Amino acid sequence: MSFIYHADRQRGLRWKRYFAVHAPHIPFHIWPETGDPAAVRFIGTWSPEALEDLSRFPNLEAIFSIGAGIDQFDLTRIPPQIPLIRMQEPGIVSTMREYVLMAALGIHRNLVDYIDQQRREVYEIFDVKPVAETTIGVLGMGQLGTAVASTLSSIGFDCRGWSRSGKPLQGVQIFKGEQELGAFLAGCNILVCLLPLTDKTRGILNSSLFKQLPVGAGLINVGRGDHLVEADLLHALDSGRLSSAVLDVQSPEPLPKGHPFWQHPRILITPHIASQTQPESAAAVLLENIDNLAQGKPVSGLVDRSRGY
Ligand code: NDP
Repeated sequence: MSFIYHADRQRGLRWKRYFAVHAPHIPFHIWPETGDPAAVRFIGTWSPEALEDLSRFPNLEAIFSIGAGIDQFDLTRIPPQIPLIRMQEPGIVSTMREYVLMAALGIHRNLVDYIDQQRREVYEIFDVKPVAETTIGVLGMGQLGTAVASTLSSIGFDCRGWSRSGKPLQGVQIFKGEQELGAFLAGCNILVCLLPLTDKTRGILNSSLFKQLPVGAGLINVGRGDHLVEADLLHALDSGRLSSAVLDVQSPEPLPKGHPFWQHPRILITPHIASQTQPESAAAVLLENIDNLAQGKPVSGLVDRSRGY
């Protein structure tokens, strides 16, 4: 039985070392090397390329996404009997906590404004508000959203979350479904998007949603670029409806040169680095999932294809 890895090569070498120590019985190949296709039982990939011709691997048992999202894959290419498993691992979670905390504090403490002021050599002070006076809403309360909301709430932000099912989380006010979206948005001084990209969530960050936020709210998009309607964001920022936006994800990536987001004084761009799968902790989770599959036990991160996440 063998494993094919198709993602960043440097980190792939760390995965390979982890497998060599903890699962020496599973030969590890880094794409484009595949070894004997008939021996391939598992593919771990970030790129959709690895899934283009799965008929080459007649004994494939499961496909693992190396990241938390699976929106880059064409699910119709994966035979229904092959489970698709997305990444749920502590490294992705802790790095996402850090990023959103940084971005939320950056908006709360007017860092975006001060960066703009520095460019213009302006020395003006904004009032400093206690964190408890800022309400942060998290769209998507899954693996990452719950961790982020807990972290923000632990430093004193007033936190609320929105999801499909409305699973409760201590210390965080939870809203669920489309019927409660308006009430959720009405209180958010800062909105964080941590939704998966699906047919239901594509374009959710649009004018109609921005209008339901308090005037001057800030936006942090760490979901996917296609959650956002770009022209609506530009309009919301230029009209003062929104104060600032921190965008870790864009569409397409890399954000093209000359794009209006680059020079916008109220937008901070980062190159999709909010969180990163950490090879060693991810390989440990993945190997545990391989064991669970072999024993017919539940696996963590199994994608429900009917929901698209
Ligand atoms: P999960 O699947 O664990 O959580 C998804 C959450 O979104 C769940 O709470 C789910 O509700 C909710 N949700 C999904 N669809 C809807 C909907 N239509 N209406 C309301 N709520 C909905 O995902 P993760 O937390 O692991 O990851 C979330 C996303 O974060 C990824 O898909 C990816 O796009 C992004 N990401 C970005 C990274 C970056 O570096 N920028 C890194 C990693 C991930 P319910 O709880 O009811 O199922």
